[in-house]
Amino acid sequence: MTTSIEIVELRTLADLNSLYQLAAECTFTKEQYRTPLRPYRLIKAEASCQYQKHGRRCAQLHQHGYVVELHDASQVLIGNCCALNHLGLDDEQVRGQFKQLSATERQNIRRHRVETLLSQRQSLIERVRAANSKHRELQGRASEVLSSLPQRIGELLNNRWKSNVLGISWDYQVVKKGVDEKGKPYEERHWYPHSFGTLKGLGVWLQLGGQRYQERLFEMRKRLEAIPTKSRLNTAELESAEAALNDMTELAVIERELHAQATLLNDFLEPGNLQLTVQLVSSHQARADTVKAVHRLLGQSLDVSPSQYVAAIDLAFKQRYSTGAIRIGS
Ligand SMILES: [Zn+2]
Repeated sequence: MTTSIEIVELRTLADLNSLYQLAAECTFTKEQYRTPLRPYRLIKAEASCQYQKHGRRCAQLHQHGYVVELHDASQVLIGNCCALNHLGLDDEQVRGQFKQLSATERQNIRRHRVETLLSQRQSLIERVRAANSKHRELQGRASEVLSSLPQRIGELLNNRWKSNVLGISWDYQVVKKGVDEKGKPYEERHWYPHSFGTLKGLGVWLQLGGQRYQERLFEMRKRLEAIPTKSRLNTAELESAEAALNDMTELAVIERELHAQATLLNDFLEPGNLQLTVQLVSSHQARADTVKAVHRLLGQSLDVSPSQYVAAIDLAFKQRYSTGAIRIGS
């Protein structure tokens, strides 16, 4: 294939034969010569010059020469001396033409890739649509959660996520009373931590509005739909098609991210995890409001008032450690 010409280094006559259909028996004159294809420098002098001098083949064995093409499209070899003396070829000039050829080849490869991908345009548009509706659904659920919880709790969750501080702990106080060696009574107060657990499921969904997913998906779809449906694209159309198709890498990233965020949100909404949010602040009123929100989100009814619910948590905590004092962990 033409692409391999770019990358394969030509070191032997066998290399030349594997990459070109060489007409080894043919000799040629300046009049038959059309264009150079590529220079080569072989390890051994094993290529035979096919240029015709004084009515016969030069036949000089050489290392350094050129593959050239004749008007009848046959490909032949010429040593660098004959090439310079009779065709005026030098490396720089031939390389320049070779690069030109490669550029055309690259363009063709590019076109082929784009046209192949374009045959899947409709399914790509469907994917963008699906990602968009997944995004809408996630956004709806995330904003329902965040608008249910007290605003302060939303802010704290955001901070916790950003600083990756996910443990929720409160302290309880232990008072030790006794009599020292001199018979003097003493009292020691120490605070000890108790962990309520670790928050799960925090993520980008907490600030989905600040992401540009929707905009990007809209742009992707617009660009895909703007590509003409005809089979042969001109260069400008090819370029914009290529840009649209390059977006598809980003689409895959967005698809993955939306899926991951939906999973995180599900984890966050697990009852045990949602309960933890009640312990994010110390204010009794704020905690009572959070209890209300948590039960609404879980679709559960409360048998007691939110305030009594909070009091019951604290009471159980105090009884567990036989303590009179508890406080939110620092
Ligand atoms: Zn020669």
